[in-house]
Amino acid sequence: MTYLDGNAAEPLRPAARAALLAALEQVGNPSSVHAPGRAARRLLEEARESLAAGFGARPADVVFTSGGTEADALALHAFAPGRRVIIGATEHEAIRAAVPDAEILPVDRSGVADLAALQAMLEANGPVLLALMLANNETGVLHPIAEAARICRRFGALLHVDAVQAAGRMPVDLSALGATSLALSSHKLGGPTGAGALLLAPEAAQHFRPLIEGGGQERGRRGGTPSVAAIAGFAAAARDAPPALKPLRDEAEQAACAAGAIVLGTGAPRLDNTTSLALPSVKAETQVIALDLAGVAVSAGAACSSGKVAESHVLKAMGAGALAGQAIRVSLPWNATIADVRHFASAYAEMAARLLRVAA
Ligand code: PLP
Repeated sequence: MTYLDGNAAEPLRPAARAALLAALEQVGNPSSVHAPGRAARRLLEEARESLAAGFGARPADVVFTSGGTEADALALHAFAPGRRVIIGATEHEAIRAAVPDAEILPVDRSGVADLAALQAMLEANGPVLLALMLANNETGVLHPIAEAARICRRFGALLHVDAVQAAGRMPVDLSALGATSLALSSHKLGGPTGAGALLLAPEAAQHFRPLIEGGGQERGRRGGTPSVAAIAGFAAAARDAPPALKPLRDEAEQAACAAGAIVLGTGAPRLDNTTSLALPSVKAETQVIALDLAGVAVSAGAACSSGKVAESHVLKAMGAGALAGQAIRVSLPWNATIADVRHFASAYAEMAARLLRVAA
């Protein structure tokens, strides 16, 4: 099987596997005062320091969670009360579902947030929380977060950044971005599932309130015993350098275009590993199944727990029209090879020739 669905879950990085297995051997709850508890606490705090250094936060401002969805939900729960909430039109369901009544910040045809519209929205009265992702999970399109943060600061608005897809694939630094908070997920950067983090800017503490109270863990900001082993693996994966995948991604795109695909979001800066490929008049689901049968794993837009494929709200917001239901996401994992891309290219060409003939 050629696995090209890294944005759904990255393969475990070797350093993450080693750290995870070593930490699994450590008995003890990090809240316990005895020696095994203190040893577990040490692993947890080493991971916290490492992630803080890697992503531009102070160790005390790293709140471990179960993953990206919880980190997003925690940020919205903490910062939304008393504020109008604005979210980017292409945000992940982790954000959309947590604030269903939010105002929507439009994107242009490339999928990039419209900062003039943001300014106009912030000129209306009242305190605001903006949630804007760094990299989109379906297209890889990057939003200009530092610029959005400058505008937010001018109007006293808070900014939560979902960096789940960007982390591990490009440099990400909370302090340099100027955001209020940043969501991360372990399994999107080559760590194990079951861990994530919300990183807070120093001034965010004054607005904070926990989503889960429990036993006062994480300085009272997230109750519940943390998964020390998953967190150790998460930190180890995050220390690895981002992979250089652009030449492979570009080759995959060229091959798909030669077979009739249209690449969506090309007018914007994008993650190096991701491409959204529309095949006009062929349903995305049909393409995913055909490629699966040919031994190539990709997805139709966002991975969906129900297994059903809906039209992509991301591509619709970009004005893709009917193509919103006809695009697949190819996202190269950190260990993708040229052989993977060649396998994809031949499977895609065969699939496109067959399905375009049927659609004609
Ligand atoms: N945010 C983005 C942009 C994502 O792509 C995802 C998962 O696909 C999430 C949040 C949710 O992360 P997790 O799967 O760790 O809950």
